[in-house]
Amino acid sequence: MDSLWSDSEARASVERYAQQGVGEDLALRVYTTRLLGGDPKLVLHGGGNTSVKTSLADVAGDEVETLCVKGSGWDMGDIEPAGLPAVRLEPLRRLRALDTLSDEDMVNAQRGNLLDSAAPTPSVETLLHAFLPHKFVDHTHATAILALTDQPDGADICRDVFGDRVALVPYIMPGFALAKSCAEIYERSPQVEGLILLKHGVFAFGTTAREPYERMVDLVTLAEQYLADASPKPLVAVNLPQQLATPAAIAPALRGQLAIETDGVEGLHKRFVLEFRTGAAIRNFVDGADLARYSQQGPVTPDHAIRIKPLPAVLPPPAADDLGGFFDRATAAIGAYRQAYNAYVERNNTDAATPKTPLDPSPRILLVPGVGFFASGDNAKAARIAADLYENNIEVIAAAESVGTYQSLGEPDMFDIEYWSLELAKLGSAVEKPLARHVVAITGAAGEIGQASARAFRAAGAEVALLDLDLDAAKKIAGDVGGIAVRCDVTDDRSVAAAFEEIAMAFGGVDILLSNAGAAWQGRIGEVDDAVLRQSFELNFFSHQRVAKAAVGIMMAQKTGGVLLFNASKQAVNPGADFGPYGLPKAATMFLSRQYAVDYGADGIRSNAVNADRIRSGLLTDDMVQARAAARGVSEDAYMTGNLLQREVTGADVAQAFVDLALARKTTGAVITVDGGNIAAALR
Ligand code: ZN
Repeated sequence: MDSLWSDSEARASVERYAQQGVGEDLALRVYTTRLLGGDPKLVLHGGGNTSVKTSLADVAGDEVETLCVKGSGWDMGDIEPAGLPAVRLEPLRRLRALDTLSDEDMVNAQRGNLLDSAAPTPSVETLLHAFLPHKFVDHTHATAILALTDQPDGADICRDVFGDRVALVPYIMPGFALAKSCAEIYERSPQVEGLILLKHGVFAFGTTAREPYERMVDLVTLAEQYLADASPKPLVAVNLPQQLATPAAIAPALRGQLAIETDGVEGLHKRFVLEFRTGAAIRNFVDGADLARYSQQGPVTPDHAIRIKPLPAVLPPPAADDLGGFFDRATAAIGAYRQAYNAYVERNNTDAATPKTPLDPSPRILLVPGVGFFASGDNAKAARIAADLYENNIEVIAAAESVGTYQSLGEPDMFDIEYWSLELAKLGSAVEKPLARHVVAITGAAGEIGQASARAFRAAGAEVALLDLDLDAAKKIAGDVGGIAVRCDVTDDRSVAAAFEEIAMAFGGVDILLSNAGAAWQGRIGEVDDAVLRQSFELNFFSHQRVAKAAVGIMMAQKTGGVLLFNASKQAVNPGADFGPYGLPKAATMFLSRQYAVDYGADGIRSNAVNADRIRSGLLTDDMVQARAAARGVSEDAYMTGNLLQREVTGADVAQAFVDLALARKTTGAVITVDGGNIAAALR
């Protein structure tokens, strides 16, 4: 790898942060931390850490020797000075005299010595930085170096490759003991440029910001050269079925398998969101004949365990002509994984003083030969992070296997890391939002009610897929709320099928459908052209059926229930003059909602509708409001508030009703009016 150091960029960083009152040491620390953090072959998603020893004034104005070290919750790639909290250095150094120090006491000492008590918690590797004498210390989990250390003879390989430029540190879990051990090993060879922590990563240090950065680049380059020169042996592929199923065809059933029933009586599940990945490197790995061996060794560096669990589940390859057989074998494989996981917890949860509460036993990574892999998480972001980490694991393991044999930590070390309270704390213990872990598909998402619904479901914690004919408009809203945009013509079978495949690829499946797309046609019913009526039925009835059918197909594969929501109109109940072409199919759609409630209630799928009225939207444009108000001889405001509550109804009001119906666990077959009160449209 090449050094990206630039004198002018370094200077620019110093000048930019000087304006914020940040000193040169910290400004340069931010600069090279970002250089390291920007390279996924060095660190990923909050991994790695850096520090600088500098003097800062405390609140009394006294100069204090401090360690500015990466705080938890920050990524090296986009770190700011606030992400490197300052800790008083001397009290940290004095801890080295202790024989032991519990994790809790260590964290307390680190937090207790912060200059700013509101700063983020300093890295779990803070003491390691503090015990080393160097001004600048950089730590990464570089892919190429892990490929060398994660082997049975990793220490020998590292001695060959790095010579006496580094000292080697045998694996110890991060914390006080590792910090002490690193300091002792360094002091025995004070000429070294860095430390290689076997099966963990690499530290480089120096007196300027540039020095450890370029030492890191040098060490990684040596490892890369070794891998490139060692005439790698490719992984041998297994024989695969001729026709393989698509990932979209298997995702919903696998997602359903991962879900954990939390209340059988209430039909509640803890669901996961899936992220699918494939590509040449991934296929090379998952199609390998030795997959069952090299994938079952453990993670490439300890801090991945918290997000991907120590081991992935290996599924059989899915033959397209035997999906039923595949699902049976996949179910058995996931069941066996859970049993093995529970047994692993039981075997290792032996410290009576600190018994650990077992985590859920569902795998976070599913390897599917012939297809790729699925990563799972509590939400789309967590699934994406897990997928990135596993792609990195694939890279390290394949590299290690190409020059030797991949080997990770032993099981007790894996358990200690997975159940380490300080790592678990990284995941946070925030209470989940009511629709967290749920995937919602919204049709007509670019319209007023669609947009408002996307916001409301997102605010309730759901992942949202925004379906619309106008992809650009859907993209804009998706970008705003944090969802995906999918082009969908709801009047076309193929377009609908493709859209739901896209959703299955993005999130693994769907839990809630909001069938919202519609348009108003008018005409006096005794005179209207049949073609107009049929066109309206196509969009305002058959499209609802088309998307509901597609969503129910996925829900039935997931076997975790689901929710259908239909946008019926007040026209479905209370016909307006000349609105027959709109009201008739809407009435059929209201009935459709009830039909789904009847036919799929036993499968835990609920179906409800909202009949809204007078929402400013594509259906009721400003021009129409003007014309109708004029026809009634009232102001526009009076027209829009012409209801019992005398308040205008908005898209947000309708969206809230859809969210409420999604949450109403014992309600199905219902129609809710959201119209400010229109007694002629009341259902009963
Ligand atoms: Zn580390």
